Amino acid sequence: MRTVIYPGSFDPLTNGHLDVIQRAARLFDRVIVAVAQNDAKTPLFSLSERSALVAATLQAEGLQNVETDVLDGLLVEYVVRRKATAIVRGLRAVSDFEFEFQLALMNRKLDETVETIFLMPKDTYSFLSSRLVKEIARLGGDVGQFVPPGIKTALLAKLGR
Ligand code: ADP
Repeated sequence: MRTVIYPGSFDPLTNGHLDVIQRAARLFDRVIVAVAQNDAKTPLFSLSERSALVAATLQAEGLQNVETDVLDGLLVEYVVRRKATAIVRGLRAVSDFEFEFQLALMNRKLDETVETIFLMPKDTYSFLSSRLVKEIARLGGDVGQFVPPGIKTALLAKLGR
């Protein structure tokens, strides 16, 4: 049974995240999408809203070997606690590389048994970020092609549109 952890803020989940989840779900027996608090980013959606939106999307997509959890504490300790094989992260472009490389090596320093695996999304999602999706939605643009339908509804409700 090979389990991987896909950690992130998912504020909110986009089609790019979903693409990474689908790829991981094909490669591994079980994928745990671990939603992190991430105070540094002052999220639009609360932790419980973000994880509920991820769970609803997974159900709508019929992804049976993927589950949602809340990530508390140190990621490497969480990985060990959940008996996972590796951390999965998405790599969109060269611009992601430096930060992701640093994070992966820092996690390895903390626990050398924890591997990080990078998956690249479909090229059409490589420009997508939660930050841009929120900005477009705030300015009244249509985010329907960037996020799953339930997320679009939640975004509009959150922004009072
Ligand atoms: P974090 O706050 O941890 O960066 P995010 O929710 O922004 O969390 O992203 C989680 C992971 O998903 C990161 O590895 C990020 O690079 C990746 N990711 C974000 N957007 C996309 C996308 N459009 N395609 C592929 N991977 C993505």
